[in-house]
Amino acid sequence: MLLPWQHTIFQQLQQCRRENRLPHAILLSGPAGIGKQALAEAFALSLLCESPHTDGTACGACHACAMFHAGSHPDLHRIGPEDTSKNIRIDQIRALIETLSLRSHYGRHKVVILNPADAMNTAAANSLLKTLEEPPPDTILLLLSARPSRLPATIRSRCQTLHMATPHPEEAASWLKSQLEAGQETETLLALAGGAPLTALQLAEDERLASRKQMLSDWLQLANGEGDPVRLASNWVKPDAALPITWIYGWLTDMIRLRASQTTRLNNPDAKATLQKLAEELDLQRIYGMLDRVQDAMRLLDSQVNPQMILEGILLYWRNLPRTAKNN
Ligand SMILES: [Zn+2]
Repeated sequence: MLLPWQHTIFQQLQQCRRENRLPHAILLSGPAGIGKQALAEAFALSLLCESPHTDGTACGACHACAMFHAGSHPDLHRIGPEDTSKNIRIDQIRALIETLSLRSHYGRHKVVILNPADAMNTAAANSLLKTLEEPPPDTILLLLSARPSRLPATIRSRCQTLHMATPHPEEAASWLKSQLEAGQETETLLALAGGAPLTALQLAEDERLASRKQMLSDWLQLANGEGDPVRLASNWVKPDAALPITWIYGWLTDMIRLRASQTTRLNNPDAKATLQKLAEELDLQRIYGMLDRVQDAMRLLDSQVNPQMILEGILLYWRNLPRTAKNN
């Protein structure tokens, strides 16, 4: 999907297309985390779509669009490092060249997205040269790189370079804000990411995962009669009291599923063992009682009640639930 700061560059590409001067090899350069892949995907889709809008964007409704969104359009080839390798290997490029020598499946373009192009080792880059020079008809190659200077000059000289800049800070901040939970610090994250919005979003997700993991460990401690609910509530409430309550809700519903021996479709598959253990220590009725209490808390969050007190109440209740002694 096209990101808000990519409309101008997308329209430049569409202009070239309308004027029949689209280069067959484009090197999209620009810093990591600004959405080069998103732009390449949006442009590829616009080339494959059977009835694009007048501004060039894909219709979203045709067979080609449906196949693209299902991840299975046969005329779109995404090449990147495979498995644990950091490199794009020569056999990947050879296989690509062989596929490109065949006609397109749907009589439109064949599109290649090579990302990151600078991951091609020398042999792979050399084997691509001839294709860059004389590509098969209707083939468009999009080479993406945050470090284009690492590409052999022979590759660069055969591509038309299109540079993508870091988006304007205000545009980046407003997009990032729309992607984050309330209370997360947009400006700090963007600064840490050097202004790259997708990197900032990744940082926020990593941070959220880390804090969820910490909270689950606190939650387990409380069940073992350790830890102080009042102190924990004061930590958990920042930056957003709704988040831990949502997580608790997810843990409890998973515990109920696990008690019913239902192990698929868990909210927290990564915490299955911990939640299973916690579920087995409790009477099912009590888990449901706790769930009611959490639902009440979710409603209270919209009221004037102090969120920290709401959390304290939940954590105290959780710690004091009667549990069966283990191993008997
Ligand atoms: Zn379409």
